[in-house]
Amino acid sequence: MEKNITENTNMACDKDFCALLGKNEAELREICREHGLPVYKGGILFKWLQAGELVYDQMTNLSKAERSLLQEHYPLHLPAIRREQRSADGTTAKLLLDFGGGILVELVIMNYQRQQSRSRHTLCISTQAGCAMGCAFCATGLSGLVRNLTAGEIVAQVLQGQLWLQRQGLGKVTNLVLMGMGEPFANYEQVCRALRVLNAENGQNIGWRRITVSTCGLPAQIRRFADEGWEVNLAVSLHAPDDDLRSRLLPVNRRFPLAELLAACDYYTNKTHRRISYEYALLRDVNDSPRQAQVLAELLAGRLAHVNLIPVNFVAETGFWPSSDETLNKFAALLKKRGLEATVRERRGLDIDGACGQLRRRNDE
Ligand code: SF4
Repeated sequence: MEKNITENTNMACDKDFCALLGKNEAELREICREHGLPVYKGGILFKWLQAGELVYDQMTNLSKAERSLLQEHYPLHLPAIRREQRSADGTTAKLLLDFGGGILVELVIMNYQRQQSRSRHTLCISTQAGCAMGCAFCATGLSGLVRNLTAGEIVAQVLQGQLWLQRQGLGKVTNLVLMGMGEPFANYEQVCRALRVLNAENGQNIGWRRITVSTCGLPAQIRRFADEGWEVNLAVSLHAPDDDLRSRLLPVNRRFPLAELLAACDYYTNKTHRRISYEYALLRDVNDSPRQAQVLAELLAGRLAHVNLIPVNFVAETGFWPSSDETLNKFAALLKKRGLEATVRERRGLDIDGACGQLRRRNDE
């Protein structure tokens, strides 16, 4: 189901309209101090912003003069929702967010209703507009990088997702995955800044262990991220068990081959004690043979690893076809037989252009 949103009242925003959203409480206190406002008002402002209230006049515990001053210096808008699609089964929604200036990014909202434990609402957010990494099977990579998103724009996606959940009468955002458009570690500073804000107790309070950062494999940044001292889940896009094929599928492998990447991954697990999820999108007759399953199992043997097998969506422009369910299950069984933990990712959003970059590309058409 798809809707074009025409009556959205939010103005499209450029990065200035989201800048305050990427500030932590201490920074907002400093901004208040600079403008002659009581420093403690920075804490109040932080709470309002993280509650998704961006209209200063609604911030009733700020004085009228304070609200006017903030409005004048820091006008705020969330990105407009340009398009919205929902899967037929109601579990997945995809929003196309417009930050102004031609910057369109995708936000995916996945709802896992559970009977025994609390429901899970996971947002898949973007860290860049476009992407420079050029992975051969990826819709986003086809258009190249437009620009990095700011920390405020990354946080703005979470707020927009939270407000969407509220409108549906659903609960709070419980999990975040940075697997949307872009390579998070190619925008390292802004991503870490946003994560600190989103983790803050008096903000979204999303625990480190409920956040997953997905990378195509930048070893220096993986090591640096390990040193942040957070227990964030790391997902590494592997997609091939050897350098030859991986270099064809992921150009980043030509600069940072598997040995270098896996050494950085080992550093990450040693530092954080977190199991790494190795992502493996199964492409028909490219990387899905029993022999390749065997090589993959050997590559990851002895590592704290989980293999996430991904049934891809067909994207005509990339020319890759998904492996059959039978091949997927056989591949998973072979990995398990060799002692690796492997699961097949649930197919979600197939009826809504579920692969990254597809909704934005359709909007261009
Ligand atoms: S798969 Fe990820 S890293 Fe690769 S081109 Fe697409 S968005 Fe970029």
